[in-house]
Parts: sequence; structure tokens; C-alpha cells
Amino acid sequence: MSVTQQNVNRIKAGAARSPSMNTSMNTDRSLLVPSGPITWQVWPPALDGSTSQSRDCEPSQQPGKAILDTTLGMQDTLRPPSDILDLRGVPSSAKPLDRRKLLVAGLGSVGGRLFVQLSRLGVGELYGVDPDRYEPASGRTQPSQFSDAGRKKSEVCGERAAAVLPDGFVATAATSVQRVPYWLLRHVDLLIASGDNLAMLLWLGRTAMGLAKMLIEGAVDGDTWTAFCRVYDLRHPDNACPGCTLSEKDWPTITTRHGCDPRHDAPEMPSTRTLPFVCATAAQIACAEVARHFWELPPVMSGSYEIALCLLSHRLHVTRLQRNPNCRCPHERWAVRDLPDSPAKATFASVLDRLGISDRSVAFCGEQSWIRSAVCERCGQRHPVRRFGEVGEQVGICSCGGPLIATPMGVRHLISSVDVEAQRHVPLGQLGFRSGAALGLLCENKATYVFVGPPPYLTEGTRPAPGMDPNPTAKELNSP
Ligand SMILES: [Zn+2]
Ligand SMILES: [Zn+2]
Repeated sequence: MSVTQQNVNRIKAGAARSPSMNTSMNTDRSLLVPSGPITWQVWPPALDGSTSQSRDCEPSQQPGKAILDTTLGMQDTLRPPSDILDLRGVPSSAKPLDRRKLLVAGLGSVGGRLFVQLSRLGVGELYGVDPDRYEPASGRTQPSQFSDAGRKKSEVCGERAAAVLPDGFVATAATSVQRVPYWLLRHVDLLIASGDNLAMLLWLGRTAMGLAKMLIEGAVDGDTWTAFCRVYDLRHPDNACPGCTLSEKDWPTITTRHGCDPRHDAPEMPSTRTLPFVCATAAQIACAEVARHFWELPPVMSGSYEIALCLLSHRLHVTRLQRNPNCRCPHERWAVRDLPDSPAKATFASVLDRLGISDRSVAFCGEQSWIRSAVCERCGQRHPVRRFGEVGEQVGICSCGGPLIATPMGVRHLISSVDVEAQRHVPLGQLGFRSGAALGLLCENKATYVFVGPPPYLTEGTRPAPGMDPNPTAKELNSP
């Protein structure tokens, strides 16, 4: 897709406008920023949703407060009176959503609307990811304005979600969901898929099944004006997953278009150009399903199901999604373990020790890529390397003194038992392993993921995210 000069200017303007909240905000919120290979922006409250208002505030001020004081002339309180939040139709037994945590993958025409609507419901922690930027014509289908062209969807949606409800915690990243760390997927209560490619949906389905999470998908069919919401109850491996709904002829298409490297950002997809009200309908149905789940209302039906509302015929179909015995997704729940040792201390040997595995032929698969070899930027020679890393990252120094850079050819998904043996007693931290990341291995025929060390936001001096055990390193536990 060609980028016009105007677009480039807007991209630059967008970059200059956007406040660097993730580093300079001197509030509690900034301490919750999940770090790691992707950059998160944490959005402070801004009541009118404009970046310019936020930009004008000094980092040490509370932007939302400043707007209230100077622009709207209201009381110097961020929290609206509680009776304003008392909406009709909420069952009296319903628990408030301010302790709930959600991740929305895909912030386009369905997900972008859903993201802001969830903020309106008062969800406590809202995470959103999308790698794309708006085009000048995006406003035809997306919840964007012409002036948003060139800006990241994650940035615009984050800003607008935070502007709706000042007390929520909103964090967004311009990345594909396949790069979101496992600890964060495990941290949230519910996952939402509203992307435009099947690869991310299948990846999210497999991961949600492994972590025993609910997954809700918002989707559309533009030709028939049909809005879909699919609720996958992946807390039970026998329920239908996203892969169960695909036919045999769908699978080769997925492989051709997206390859099988889950860490590779999804390529840009052609626009579906679906009418915006169809997308908005899908977003609202999905939002209702989230509320139904969190308020513990009886589900429409047990297991996984699909709601399809056709706006041409006004027909509504609610269908149970059947488990497909030929589904290519693994339908397995992971055994999850937390290892108290930090990566500075933990080694492959100590992990195997903790799990009581004496078998030396065990192979690991890291949540992070394993680099087997890398190329010298100076002399062009390929050298063996055995450590964690990312494509494009420097992972060593060549004998000529030049930097060794990881390339796709040197990346492995599995860490062979030979490599494990070679690095058996080297601290994982020295091998580039990030604290809070997961190491996977097959243990008694069951996929086991071991989370090593505390997640990045739980480091000393920062306060834990709501709902997290403030001191998870103190004990080793099996997740429920
Ligand atoms: Zn399946
Ligand atoms: Zn060299």
C-alpha cells in the first residue's frame, strides 16, 4: 500500500502530538506498564479525548484533572458521581467490572468500537493491540476521523477509551496479538478477538484453550449485512474452538497467507469494506456477551456458540458450535507452573529439577524465539548461537569484532535437547530470557508452561496491577 506524502506528514504530526505517557508520566498508572519486547502506551484520563489537551500538560500533572479544571470548569475530582454510573438493566447481584481485566486483539471497525464501549462499562483494566494505522478513507468503516489518518489505531482507541471513563486503566500497543506476552494473556479474565485474519484468531484460540480462558470473537459478513459474535468457552477443552469452525479447504489458505511463524506480524489484509453499522452491531453484541459473562448471567447456551444477526432479513440465529473431531488445533489445556527463581538464577537444569524431570532428552519451546545461529553484520559469516532473542536483535559478537544479528533462518521454535544440554547450567537471564516469560515443555505427555520470575511490572518498587498477588515470587503454585 503506497503512503502518500500527506499521509507521511500526518504520521509525523501524529508522532509529535502523542504524549510519551509510558515513560514520562509520573503517576501510579505508569508503574503498571507491562514492559518487554513491545511498547505499551498507558492512557491517562482525558475527558474530551483530544491529544492536544493531554500534550499541553506537564508529565507531573494529572492531565484529566487539568482538563476538568481549565476547560470544563468542573469540580477537581476525576470520578463522576456514582449515581451517574448506576445504569438500568444491571442485575442487582452484578459485581462491578472495575476489577475485571480484558484484552482486545484487533482495534479495527469491530474491535475499535468494542474497546471504547468496554471502557464505558467501567472495565478495570483494558488492554488493546493492533499493528495498523488508519488510512485517510478509514472513517468510512472504522471508528476514526479523517484527521486520524496516519495515526496508530492502538493510539487513537486507547486515547478514546481512556477519555470515556477516567478511572479505568487503559494500555495499548501497536503490535499483533501473537507478540503479547503469555503472562499478560494469563493475567486478563477474558480475551476478545476482532482481527481481520484467521491466523491470529487461531493463535488466540490455542493460547486461550491452553490457559483455560473464555474467548469472544466479533466478526461480520459484509455482503449479507450479518453481524457475528462467537463465544468460545475454552475453559473446557472439549468445547468448540475457532479451528473447529473451519473447513478442510480453509486451512491451506491460512498457511499460504500467514505462514506458520506466530511471532511474525500479520501482513496487511485487503479491506472487507463492510458497512459500518454492521461492524458496530457486531461490536455491541460482543459487548453484551462480555457483560453477560462478567455479571454471571446465564449464558445463551452452554459450551461455545454463535450469535448471527442479519440486518437485511432481521433474522437472528443462535447456534451451538460443535467440537470438530478433525480440528487441527490441539484442544489441550496447559499445566501452568510458576517458578519463584528469577531468570538471573534459574537454569534449564533447575527448571527440570523443580519439575522432577530427570530425562535429559527433553526439548523446550520458549515463548521467546530461540536463536540457533546469527550473521555477522561486518564480515557476513554465520556463526552458531544458542540463546533467546528476536529477529534483528544483536545476539553476540563475531570473531572479527562485528555484531552478530539474528535472522529468520537462525530462529527455532523448539529448543533441542542438544542445545538444552549445551546451556544446561547457564542462567536463563544470561541467555536473553525475560523475567515473567514462559518456557514450554512436554511433561508426561502434557504441555507444561513454566513462568520464570515475576512479570515485568511486578519488579521492586512498583505496585502490582489490581487483582495480582502482590508477591507471587514467594510461593510456587499451580494455577487453577
Ligand atoms: Zn477445535
Ligand atoms: Zn564477523
